[in-house]
Amino acid sequence: MQSASSKSWSFDETELAHLRRCVALAAEAIDAGDEPFGSVLVSADGTALAEDRNRDNTGADQTLHPEFQLARWAAAHLTLAERAAATVFTSGEHCPMCSAAHAWVGLGRIVYVASSTQLVTWLSELGLGPAPVNPLPIQQIAPGIRVEGPIPQLTEEIHALHLLYRSKL
Ligand SMILES: [Zn+2]
Repeated sequence: MQSASSKSWSFDETELAHLRRCVALAAEAIDAGDEPFGSVLVSADGTALAEDRNRDNTGADQTLHPEFQLARWAAAHLTLAERAAATVFTSGEHCPMCSAAHAWVGLGRIVYVASSTQLVTWLSELGLGPAPVNPLPIQQIAPGIRVEGPIPQLTEEIHALHLLYRSKL
């Protein structure tokens, strides 16, 4: 039987390209010395409007998550209708802080490559303890958001980036 977490989603090439860009941004974050997370904010017609990567180390601020930055960008630049019709593609499932910011500014769908549950498993396999914030699923923070993920065909790339980042510490 297939569980919800192993459900395979289908995306067109444009959406897969946005997801691959998230993976590339996560790799860029490692090159800069930050944790491997990247996100892209996409309009209803499929146009990438803004992107960011994690900057927690280089920005000396552990709240500099790309999903949080994109929520703020959306609040500053998009109408409420544009936000609701937009999609945030992201390498890793939103943390509770970012889920809340996403919902507070009225953004729409989220597509993530790797789930928070997967990240916790990978980090625990490296002997790394729990984060200071519980890894609650997006739906527990923002029940009105349409959420899709994980994306099996890209998940292992994100796993590899987390292993690479930890190997550099
Ligand atoms: Zn976050």
